[in-house]
Amino acid sequence: MHAPAVDAKVDQVRKRLDAARNHAPAVFASSFGAEDMVLFDLIAREFREIEIATLDTGRLPPETYDLIQQATTAYRCKVRIYSPRHEAVESFVRINGINGFYDSTAQRKDCCEVRKLEPLKRALAGKRAWVTGLRRDQAVTRQQLDEVAFDTTQGLYKFSPLAQWTEEDVWHYIRSRGVPYNALHDRGYPSIGCAPCTRAVQPGEDIRAGRWWWESSAGKECGLHPQGVKA
Ligand code: SF4
Repeated sequence: MHAPAVDAKVDQVRKRLDAARNHAPAVFASSFGAEDMVLFDLIAREFREIEIATLDTGRLPPETYDLIQQATTAYRCKVRIYSPRHEAVESFVRINGINGFYDSTAQRKDCCEVRKLEPLKRALAGKRAWVTGLRRDQAVTRQQLDEVAFDTTQGLYKFSPLAQWTEEDVWHYIRSRGVPYNALHDRGYPSIGCAPCTRAVQPGEDIRAGRWWWESSAGKECGLHPQGVKA
């Protein structure tokens, strides 16, 4: 990828972030994956009116916690961290076991509901727009992704400024600007979620093959990004 081509894409992202900022209050829900570090870099430098939030599921890999600490220190910015309700986690574990998410897709989804979806609802409460680092070619479930859409599930505008970016664009941005990133990316993890539900992939494998690898590829979403959105 030539630098001017990426620069043009970055300018387009700036326009989207400016639009998101104009839908105040807006929040960037970051997972601290590679795509989200592109947006983190831009938002922390140029769009500070957009709040940065993340979901600490309690099961993240240590490398993700290290990156959260590293990035907030380097950029001198605040990240609002949402944790799950402890009563809900205790109830899930009491009924299903500490790693009960492996036993069935239903239990896995229940765990994602408790550790991700409910905290996300709180992160989005009262907001008019949220920003995500989703890209179309990350998954079959994301191929129709719009850069701007009304999220009918959450009831606010959803901005995905990197929708048309390639993986190569993302890494060009990160490497050419020295943006910090999760150490697991260098160990074969293109997509990073909770530690027990993420593993490395082999070269040539689908980039989300390491997420919930024991399930079929068609439904491999945690529910944070259902398709209830209108362009
Ligand atoms: S990714 Fe795994 S550990 Fe994390 S919330 Fe979902 S099921 Fe639970």
